[in-house]
Amino acid sequence: MKLFLFVIGTVLGSFLCLCAERVPKKESVIFGRSRCSYCHHPLSVKELIPLLSIIRQRFRCLHCGRALAFRYFFIEFLVGSLFVVFLSERSLILFWQLFWLLSTLVLAVIDCDTYLVEERIFLSTSLFLVAGGLILHQPIYWWQPLILLLCSSVLQRYLPDSLGMGDVWLTAVWSLLLTGYKLLVLLFIASGSGLLFFMIQRIRQKPLREVPFVPFLFCGLLVVLLSLKKA
Ligand SMILES: [Zn+2]
Repeated sequence: MKLFLFVIGTVLGSFLCLCAERVPKKESVIFGRSRCSYCHHPLSVKELIPLLSIIRQRFRCLHCGRALAFRYFFIEFLVGSLFVVFLSERSLILFWQLFWLLSTLVLAVIDCDTYLVEERIFLSTSLFLVAGGLILHQPIYWWQPLILLLCSSVLQRYLPDSLGMGDVWLTAVWSLLLTGYKLLVLLFIASGSGLLFFMIQRIRQKPLREVPFVPFLFCGLLVVLLSLKKA
């Protein structure tokens, strides 16, 4: 059963990578064959097997020979593992939490590429997330987004451009569904890991235009949801 969940997860992971690449370009995620991002050669079935194809090809495109991003492998493996962790028990709440993580993962990949929180994915998945929370009788902390937006507008006034508004809105939606303590833990992990990444890049002398923050929010969310699962 766990192997089955893992395999299904890797397939979905592969599809999420495709969504993250195509949605910002306003391309269809259903129609159109998968192609190499560099030479645009259509990929055959044997090049589309999650995890295995990329290992067999030694992380290179079979047609142009250019190195394929490690993130395809990482995301397929991550989504496979999340499927095992969150779907091994039959629980609608765990299913809802998995949806939360996966929608954030897509936003995180797009943020890495474009430094933007993709609006359409953000709005549609937020709607499902909050509706799911209400249907599953999760507590809704409606005042927290108000406090968060107020704090961020004060910060924006004194430290302009210190926050991306997309990150603020994303956190505001999440603050509806998490206790104040969990939210603080999440923001602490996200800021800490973001700062660590920034320092490592400085040491490696790789100048950064800006740091995409959604990947770090994803790390914080993952830790918080895993701790809820154990509780
Ligand atoms: Zn290629």
